[in-house]
Amino acid sequence: MTTAVLNIPRRRVSRDGCSGGRGRRATLEESLGATLVSARAGEPADCPLCPGTMRAADGSAVCDSCGSTLS
Ligand SMILES: [Zn+2]
Repeated sequence: MTTAVLNIPRRRVSRDGCSGGRGRRATLEESLGATLVSARAGEPADCPLCPGTMRAADGSAVCDSCGSTLS
């Protein structure tokens, strides 16, 4: 069984040199969670599956391009 890795560029918020996370990739769960949080906050979030944008819809995030739903 292969582990799926989604490589999504993280937004640069501020320098945080003590986290030890340099070069670390976000896990799929973290990426999907961050996408859902952003969409719920009313911010456009990148779809993890396509170049589309996820938008909030009834507590979920729905991609306006491929139709994927995160909840
Ligand atoms: Zn999509």
